[in-house]
Amino acid sequence: MAISAVTSLNVFLPSRPAGPATIEFDTETGKITAVREGVSSSSKDNLPHVLDLGSAFLIPGLVDCHVHLNEPGRTEWEGFATGTRAAASGGVTTLIDMPLNSIPPVTTVSGLEAKRAAAVGQLSVDVGFWGGVIPGNAGDIKPLIEAGVKGFKCFLIESGVEEFPCVDEDDLRKALAELEGTEIPLLFHAELDPPSSSSSPPTADSSDPTFYSTFLASRPDTFETSAIAMVIRLMKEFPSVPCHIVHLSSAEALPAIREAKKAGARLTVETCYHYLCIEAEAIPHRHTEFKCCPPIRSSANRELLWSALFDNTIDYIVSDHSPCVSQLKNLDTGDYSTAWGGISSLGLGCSLLWTEAEKRGFGMEEVVKWTSGRTGKMAKVEEVKGGLRVGGEADFAVFDPTASFTVTKDSLSFKNKLTPFEGITLQGRITATYLRGERIYSVEEGVLGGEPKGRML
Ligand SMILES: [Zn+2]
Repeated sequence: MAISAVTSLNVFLPSRPAGPATIEFDTETGKITAVREGVSSSSKDNLPHVLDLGSAFLIPGLVDCHVHLNEPGRTEWEGFATGTRAAASGGVTTLIDMPLNSIPPVTTVSGLEAKRAAAVGQLSVDVGFWGGVIPGNAGDIKPLIEAGVKGFKCFLIESGVEEFPCVDEDDLRKALAELEGTEIPLLFHAELDPPSSSSSPPTADSSDPTFYSTFLASRPDTFETSAIAMVIRLMKEFPSVPCHIVHLSSAEALPAIREAKKAGARLTVETCYHYLCIEAEAIPHRHTEFKCCPPIRSSANRELLWSALFDNTIDYIVSDHSPCVSQLKNLDTGDYSTAWGGISSLGLGCSLLWTEAEKRGFGMEEVVKWTSGRTGKMAKVEEVKGGLRVGGEADFAVFDPTASFTVTKDSLSFKNKLTPFEGITLQGRITATYLRGERIYSVEEGVLGGEPKGRML
């Protein structure tokens, strides 16, 4: 055993109030051997090395359950190397990769194997995988569970890539039947274009595709409320299967979610940094870096999402980092209608959240709960990650709440440096990230060189 320790006046753990504490860990195994109240020093506690953070925040490494790394097949959009470096720069020590936008998609065991083969030697942080449900692949569900996927994602509306088609109710019943008794969740991209949709009758000023308002009108709240109503209805047929709504944007769906949860449905819900930090009214014409599906909605909607975090209707927050090459964003024409829908933010999450959470009276305790405690549970890594427990892994980040910085292309570590957050100034910054007790990132040196230390989960 080679014990090292990190100590701070402000340690944030899910299980106890924030305050002075010391985390001891074995540098050989990377595992936590003790969590002690109060600050330590080498001389006082007979430890060979104590990293004293002073009043900087010591937080568990973030677990981001919704990231698109796109490799293999669309590696020019994002890859394992750049994506996990971006994660490390934002204190994210575990991410779960989405099954689509890579080719092949993870809808078969061979698709998962292709992912794993491509990831070898490239991971700066730990990576797990979601599988996908598409029409006709119910027979692949059990083999994919055996092979280690964390759960399955499906689309109720076209996904944007042809190799990952959306499913209908019959497909879903087949998938849910396969999932019964497995404790493996089904994740829904919950937008549904209702057959009798009277959405978006174009008016004179809402038909210009370079206006954000035109795009917003084309993906109305009813897409989300109809989809979520369908999910809740199916959950009554398959009550044992945990179901999850990815990237909730519409606050109009909150009453139905509240009611279902109250009635005991095994339903969880995530939202994303961009829905909490940006409002439609502030999105300029022709700036397609703001386009994602479901869309960023009004300022009033945004505040209702914050309230839903407060009362646990929304369980946690993820990035949904979903980049593409810049040509697909139509930067020359500013046409929202055909631009790729996806927002890039990997690495900025903790600062984005702190900047906005503080204004609304939330503290780092809540940020930690939303970004590592509950996401760690969703990713089924809570025994070892997302909380800094004895026996768990020493994945942690140092957050300086007093630092502020302006987002520039240079400050981003992901591959295609196009983000709606460029140019804004954020409060609080991740200054170092540790994976299994080893420093993998520092704000001065960036992501540290040498062999990447991440593992596949
Ligand atoms: Zn996504």
